[in-house]
Amino acid sequence: ASSMDTELGEAMQRRLRSFGKASVLFYQEPIRMERAEGVYMFDVEGRRYLDLYNNVPSVGHSHPRVVEAIRRQVGVLNTHTRYLNDVVDAYAERLLATFPPEIDHVVLTCTGSEANDLALRIAKVATGRAGFIVTETAYHGNTTAVTDVSPSSRPGQPLPPHVRVVPVPEMFRNPVGDPGKSFADSVAAAIDDLEQTGVGFAGLLVDTIFSSDGVYADPAGFLAPTVKLVHERQGLFIADEVQPGFGRTGAAMWGFARHGVVPDIVTMGKPMGNGFPMGGVAMRAPLLDRFAEEVKYFNTFGGNPVAAAAGLAVLDVIEEEGLMQNAREVGRHLLDGLRDIGNRHIEIGDVRGAGLFIGLELVRDRETKEPAPELASQLINRLRQRGILIGAAGPFGSTLKIRPPLCFGKDHADIFIAACDEELRAIPLA
Ligand code: PMP
Repeated sequence: ASSMDTELGEAMQRRLRSFGKASVLFYQEPIRMERAEGVYMFDVEGRRYLDLYNNVPSVGHSHPRVVEAIRRQVGVLNTHTRYLNDVVDAYAERLLATFPPEIDHVVLTCTGSEANDLALRIAKVATGRAGFIVTETAYHGNTTAVTDVSPSSRPGQPLPPHVRVVPVPEMFRNPVGDPGKSFADSVAAAIDDLEQTGVGFAGLLVDTIFSSDGVYADPAGFLAPTVKLVHERQGLFIADEVQPGFGRTGAAMWGFARHGVVPDIVTMGKPMGNGFPMGGVAMRAPLLDRFAEEVKYFNTFGGNPVAAAAGLAVLDVIEEEGLMQNAREVGRHLLDGLRDIGNRHIEIGDVRGAGLFIGLELVRDRETKEPAPELASQLINRLRQRGILIGAAGPFGSTLKIRPPLCFGKDHADIFIAACDEELRAIPLA
């Protein structure tokens, strides 16, 4: 073995010695990552990788504006959240200004999981009921309560008694005439069931781009009949914006806006601090007021001055660099380019998404639409070898999850499209 292989082997063993079986690494040949800038990451050998996986550093890796905001604030004040502080209040105001006027209160947390955990608690207090509805392959985070509503984290396990799942309106395998109605019908049946079993209906929690379900963005507006139904049945609509939020869909700051709905509660995370740990729950004021009467919620680090400074810089960069518009334009270019090579590769079953959040679904057979997770895995590992980072999602792991930083350019998109085209040609058909 070469010295490089030996070094990688040693690095992997070192990782396992401390982190054991819980260690999660990407790729058959994991990467020893060293630094990153813009849309590129660099390993310890100085090898460059085009990043299409990472929606945490959403305005670009190590963006100088965000780095400087964090650096400056950490040298001035970095403390818990029980003092008045202008940076924190300025951030809350800037963030709330991105929402419809009905959503006028916020709690800041450190992660998306904390945000969803808190959202469930708020919904339970507001409704006095405990039942939640989520999609079949949803992921909403890692706390005990949130794992209960994350079927993708508990494969093969029975659902907890207070949780019901519904299929996502999936226009690829089960094209229905009216996806809005079909989703609402599924949710109505789940509400009936929660009520009949005495649990009661507290809320519907969905990722508004259905990323872990396999990326389902269209048709825009399909959520509207369901949100109307949820309100008629006295439940709350909780939009998990951890994935689509902060401009990624190119259409608006928030994924729910594409559907023309206003949630009761919105949860946020990942791109919020461009890598500085941040999450949040925004909601209609009466919901938080009611919750605060019963529960003393405190988060030591959530929305501390450094987080607020990072968050402000992220909002500035999205606006000043026109990243939403870039997501829209480059996303369109990427979608068109991938559909174009789809005409040449029968393994590409579907290309779908919104803005810079695209799912490319690989199939073994276009007629039967049998999913091709092995092909997805081969392609992902081949792309890694040629310096392109990408992951997979969906119930079968057969959908490439294309989610680059929002400063991704058309030239970067072309590199990716050409690489997919070549690698798909090189992989022997099974
Ligand atoms: N919601 C969704 C839709 C997510 O994708 C994730 C993270 N993958 C979370 C919530 C949880 O966020 P965190 O890992 O920051 O706790």
